[in-house]
Order: sequence, then structure tokens, then C-alpha cells
Amino acid sequence: MKKRLVVGILAHVDAGKTTLSEAFLYMAGKLRKLGRVDHGDAFLDTDEVERERGITIYAKEARFEVGDTEIVLADTPGHVDFSAETERVLQVLDCAVLVVSATDGVQAHTRTLSKLLDRYGVPTFIFVNKTDLPFAGEQAVADGIRKDLGESAAPFFSGENERTRAERLALFSEKLLEKYTEDGTTDESELTRLISKRKLIPVFFGSARTADGVGAFLNALVSLAPRPVYDPDIFGARIFKIAHDGNVRLTFMKITGGALNVRDVVKYDGKTEKAAQIRLYSGNTFRQTDRAEAGDICAVIGLTSTRAGQGLGAEEDGGSPTLEPVLTYRVILPENCPERLFFPKLTELSEEDPSLRPVWNEELQELQVRLMGDVQTEILTRKIRDRFGVEVSFGEGRILYKETVASAVEGVGHFEPLRHYAEVHLLIEPLPRGSGIVTDSVCPTDELASNWQNLVDSVLNETQLSGVLIGAPLTDVKITLLSGRSHPKHTEGGDFREATLRALR
Ligand code: GDP
Repeated sequence: MKKRLVVGILAHVDAGKTTLSEAFLYMAGKLRKLGRVDHGDAFLDTDEVERERGITIYAKEARFEVGDTEIVLADTPGHVDFSAETERVLQVLDCAVLVVSATDGVQAHTRTLSKLLDRYGVPTFIFVNKTDLPFAGEQAVADGIRKDLGESAAPFFSGENERTRAERLALFSEKLLEKYTEDGTTDESELTRLISKRKLIPVFFGSARTADGVGAFLNALVSLAPRPVYDPDIFGARIFKIAHDGNVRLTFMKITGGALNVRDVVKYDGKTEKAAQIRLYSGNTFRQTDRAEAGDICAVIGLTSTRAGQGLGAEEDGGSPTLEPVLTYRVILPENCPERLFFPKLTELSEEDPSLRPVWNEELQELQVRLMGDVQTEILTRKIRDRFGVEVSFGEGRILYKETVASAVEGVGHFEPLRHYAEVHLLIEPLPRGSGIVTDSVCPTDELASNWQNLVDSVLNETQLSGVLIGAPLTDVKITLLSGRSHPKHTEGGDFREATLRALR
């Protein structure tokens, strides 16, 4: 199997992420010249809107080789408005390159990204960019990074000799110290181990524009990055993006076990569909392949209702993103466009970006979506115009409230009209902020059969549960099924749904 590394590249806007990606491709011999974002001809900025605005909105890939390793570089949106997408990409990375500008240092968004990388346990390398411009010096920038992002940041200063570097790294572990005192060098496998645990985050310096230090950085990345191990026999994949190429629906996934062959059957959400085509993208071009193996990233055609964040085969679904929009907007449609007909189009867009969460608000009689801010609003307006030919606008952003419970509470729900029967008893307890909804059961299966218990669990997990104060989404609670009862003749699936929601209320 080919050696492969999926490397994410992340940064605050303007740190030089796009330019650095270009420099990687240039060093690897994939580009003849350093295409410049400022000229609107960067390799990865394939979307028209991106070229115009000079920012990266949609995560995409580039492929190149360094030595015997194929690197799949996953670009991520730099703007704060698109962090939900960044977060989904994080879950498929083998390691990440966090770009920091030498002239601006660590920015608020850099800190957010660093926290996310920590949350998903992604081994990280930092590249301090723009050292061709006047800046405070490598030592000063490194000190700033250690102060802001933590002591695990370890500078690899340019031009320093091996011994000096080994001496500094020796402080990171017993083993490194031992090797250093022994022969004045560094134990590379120990460095890799520390990097994989995020106990060490190497910091390199250079300039994406002049390509200075970029080659050395790539070589270090390839030799030090931890190599993931996959089960070669059992198929698994994690979907991180849904996109459209004209009318073709593309499901982007990372294969996390076994392999996917063209015409293989893929099962999800009770559906059985075939992988009609497998594409390997690089920039806006792709080549088709018959087979994608564990560790690779590919786009699959033929899957009609997959979702970003979904797991296939042995892979579980990803958790909900930490960064969620906090504003909800009314979608204002032109007169000749009924909401009912437009809703499915919004649903299509939300497959690409699940954080939009389009809903029809019955009470206010309006269509709503969730958005991170102005830039995303502008992009969405444009996307809807380009794709559906509809001119929409958005109302004022309103804060999205959420509800939780202050202390533990029990609830019982009955549903027993004629020839129906279900009874559910729930315990609801508060959890720390950011926990979301956790479900459990302590109900014995001889009291309530496991198929009914599973149904209660799926109602709790798949329904948007609302609080009782203002009907806002319920969050940060643990819901435990204490007991329940069914009737041998009269119980139907829907009865448990009703009883569960009543118990919750
Ligand atoms: P992104 O928003 O992080 O993708 O950043 P870009 O790659 O678009 O770069 C932002 C700006 O910084 C552009 O004007 C680049 O030409 C410039 N830039 C990027 N890297 C360097 C560098 O190493 N040196 C200098 N002097 N400018 C750079």
C-alpha cells in the first residue's frame, strides 16, 4: 500500500495559507511557477467567489509527493464564518499545519483553531510564514507562540546546528535527554511519538512567497509525522464534505479501513447504493480510480443523501461541531417563489453545510437558517442565485437561545388512545456546558424489549428536542430511560415517539 498522509492546512485569514499550499506544490514539482493569490490564479482557489475575494471558502484538496509519501493536502476555510466546515475536515486529518504570520503573530482565530486541533487530537506542525518581511526575529516569535499556544511548541530555528537543536528538544522527554547526553543527537522516533500525543508541536520558519524554508519544512513533516495504522480488512469511511460539480453530487470521504471499489455497495441510513465512480481531486481537476484504500481521501458519486460528518461501515458518526452559529436569520424570498417549494433547495444546501439547519418556523410562519455572520450570508445569497436563480435576502440576525435544566427531574409520558399503548419514564439531569445531549438506559429488557428501547433512544437522538420555557433547543442534559411499558397487541412504533416526547415535556 502506498504511504500516504492527509495533511490539513489552517490559519487565520491572510497568514499565507494559500501561498504556502502553492509553495508546497511548487517544491514538489507540481507547479512551474509560484502562482500568486494576489493575481487570482492560485491553484487551490478554484471557486469563482474565492478568486474574487481572495479568501478560501470551500475546503478542497491538492496532491503531491515528497519522497515515497503521497501527501493529500486539505485546505480549510480561514474565515471564522466557516469554522464548522474546518471542524469537519479536522476529523479526517493525519496531521495539521498551522500557519502563523511572522509579522502578526498568533491571532484570536489562531487560538481557536489551536483549541480545535487539541480537541480532535490532531498532531500539529506550526509554520511561521513571511520571514522575508521585517519581523521581530525567530526567537521572539517562538516565545510569543509558546506563551499563547502552550509549552509544547518547540522551535526548530533555521540554520541552527543539530546539537543546539537536540539540546533544546532534550527538555521534552527523558528519552530525548538520554539520547542527547549519549551522542548529542535527537531520537526521531521519540519525537514522532511526542508529536502524535501533541506533547510536542514543532515550529518551523520560512517564507511561502520566496519558498525559503519550505523544502526543509516538508522534509521534516514527512519524516516526523506520525503514520496512522488502519485495519486493512474492514471497510470504514468518514464523510467530511458534500459538494456539487454541475449536477453531479460528490460525497467526499476519508477511507479509514479496508478499501472502497467502484460498484461496491454502500449502506447507510437504511439505504443501499452503489459507488458509481470514485474521483481523486487535486485542485479543480480529478482523476478516476477503481479503488480507494485506507488512508486516502476521495469523492464518491452515486450516493444520494449522505451527510457531512456521517460515518460509513465501521466508522461512527462524528460528534456535533463545537463552533455553531449563534444567529438565526429569516430567509426572505421573492414574491413569486413560495416557501414550500424553496425549502427542499435549502435542504440540499444544508447537506453541504449541516450547520445551516434550515427550518420552517410554524409560529412565525417563516423560513429560517443559521449563519455565522456577514461573510457567510453574502456567500449564501450568491450561491442561491447562481445555483437556483433565486434572489433571496435575509432578515436581521436573531440570537439563538438554548435551554437546559438546572437540576435533575423525572418525567412520565403515556400514549394510550384506543388500540395504542406506550409508556416512558425518563430522568433528565444537567451536564456541563457544551456536552450536548447524552442518552442512556437503566431499564431492564424484560421490562421493555430492546427494540422499543432503541426506538426511544433514536427519538431522543434524532429529534430536535425543545425546552419548555421558550421552545428553544434543549442541550447539555443527560436523559436516562428509567422504565417503560408496551402492550403485546396494541403498541406501534409511533406510540413510543409520542410517549417519549410527552415524558420529556
Ligand atoms: P490566506 O488568506 O491565509 O490564504 O493567505 P494568502 O496566501 O492569500 O496570503 C495573504 C497575503 O499575504 C497575500 O497578499 C500574499 O501574497 C501574502 N503572503 C503570503 N505569504 C507570504 C510570504 O511568505 N511573504 C510575504 N511577503 N507575503 C506573503
